[in-house]
Amino acid sequence: MNEFAIIEHFFNASSIKRKDVVLGIGDDCAIVQPPPDQELLITTDTLVSGVHFLPDMAASDIGFKSLAVNLSDLAAKGAEPAWMTLALTLPKNDETWLKNFSTGLFELANRYHVQLIGGDLTKGPLSITIQAMGFAPKNQSLRRSNAKPGDLIYVSNTLGDAALGLKNSMTIAKTYQDFLIARHCRPEPRIELGKQLRDIAHASIDISDGLAADLGHILNMSHVGATVYVDRLPLSNALLASVSREEGIALALNGGDDYELCFTVAPDKAHLLNTPYTCIGKITNQPGLDLRYQDEKKYNGTQAGYKHF
Ligand code: ADP
Ligand code: MG
Repeated sequence: MNEFAIIEHFFNASSIKRKDVVLGIGDDCAIVQPPPDQELLITTDTLVSGVHFLPDMAASDIGFKSLAVNLSDLAAKGAEPAWMTLALTLPKNDETWLKNFSTGLFELANRYHVQLIGGDLTKGPLSITIQAMGFAPKNQSLRRSNAKPGDLIYVSNTLGDAALGLKNSMTIAKTYQDFLIARHCRPEPRIELGKQLRDIAHASIDISDGLAADLGHILNMSHVGATVYVDRLPLSNALLASVSREEGIALALNGGDDYELCFTVAPDKAHLLNTPYTCIGKITNQPGLDLRYQDEKKYNGTQAGYKHF
């Protein structure tokens, strides 16, 4: 298949079609019509083989995850996802790989009504760049910069599973292997939660580099500090069955790839959260992240998130 046949067969044909796309794949630009009175939110993320995923990761999981990490950014800001572009660099024209990649990609895209509206295809070392776009009502999207002293800090779901799933090793209890590997390969973007938080949260971020590092971004950008009680971090049964509690806490703080949301809420709005997210601490006036174990004791574990450079 030539380049244009690949684009048509593996990408254009699989995408849902939205009414707000004026012009999709096939011209020099796509044209979209965002709803009136809404703001456009745009994010992009690249996944490079050997850096963001192991070279033997299934193509369908690579497709799913490339979009999931982008939708997670939209979720963190309270956006409704709508469109994406895909810039794909491939070492060779491997139709089996393309078919599996596109199956994983569109499984997630179609679930959230995201239309593929354009992209690029080049030859080279495997790398996938997706740009995702969505919208939110004016002035209602969430920022990293608006946390206030006194806010309660929450996280969704459980932390540390993906970092353990990546290890895919003997340490994982057999019954939990599939769950932990799925948490690494197929993170679920918290789109519904993000939209719910528009009216509730002061600040929000998605956890991609570990809770300590990503909560740190909220603290820096909001000019506040935080106290976090590490024994309150939500750890899955799968994690606790596989590693010690201490290691579990370290994975939750520093392991990457959770793609859960961390958000801060004024205490008088906490009752509006209609699902039991876990409160892990509070925002304070004291700069920095104060980690505590069992309320008062200082926690002395490490706290370095993943850094590329
Ligand atoms: P140009 O040369 O103008 O950049 P291309 O020949 O690269 O255009 O692409 C032709 C059309 O196919 C464009 O509409 C582009 O957005 C789309 N396209 C290219 N690669 C992809 C891809 N991987 N996924 C989806 N659309 C793509
Ligand atoms: Mg091009």
